[in-house]
Amino acid sequence: MSKPQLILLGAPGSGKGTQAKRLVSEFGFGHISTGDLLRAEIAKASELGKKVKSIMDAGELVNDQVVLELLNANCDLTNNVYIFDGFPRNGEQAALLEDFVLKGIPAKAIYFKVDFEQIIERITNRRLAPKSGEIYNLLTRKPKVDGKCDVSGEDLIHRDDDKEEVVRNRLEVFKKTIEPVLEYYKSKTQLVELDASRPADVVFEDLKKLID
Ligand code: AMP
Repeated sequence: MSKPQLILLGAPGSGKGTQAKRLVSEFGFGHISTGDLLRAEIAKASELGKKVKSIMDAGELVNDQVVLELLNANCDLTNNVYIFDGFPRNGEQAALLEDFVLKGIPAKAIYFKVDFEQIIERITNRRLAPKSGEIYNLLTRKPKVDGKCDVSGEDLIHRDDDKEEVVRNRLEVFKKTIEPVLEYYKSKTQLVELDASRPADVVFEDLKKLID
């Protein structure tokens, strides 16, 4: 495959998940969101799910090795181009991704830059449809029927860790851990930056140019 694997970097609420979904439906990439994989473990009340729930509810990071195993079990890079969304979260994970998943397969990291104040507003208004994976925003992308997913009709949820106090902690964790990740990809000349504070349609147009 000639297209590089895509690694989306950015704070919670920077729009990575929304854009990943659009890229998947337009170009057929595989999509790996470690947050989604972990939430699925919680939903099925697996041993792993029970172990990580309180960590996730507090907005802290789950153990690197645990997330790496989950990631590896859910992607097959032999014939697919993936979008990695939510991994890596720190310098160690960037190295793990290279050594145990990519193993030399070309990749491009895209950093979604957004102002933190804007993020708080975005996330506290975010609503999620767990089954269809659709993401809504009560200000900018309202569902047609209040509280229901346009695609599946299921009830929308407000993630426990999308409440303001937890969001603030998640942003603190992000600020403390992202710098080595950016440095890692900069040093490999694999990093591009994107102004993700703009409306989703505009960001998507830029993104398409970046991956061409
Ligand atoms: P997200 O959906 O990407 O915002 O992730 C939600 C939560 O899942 C995070 O706040 C972490 O607790 C956990 N999580 C997701 N991805 C990772 C990762 N790569 N490393 C550690 N924890 C993660």
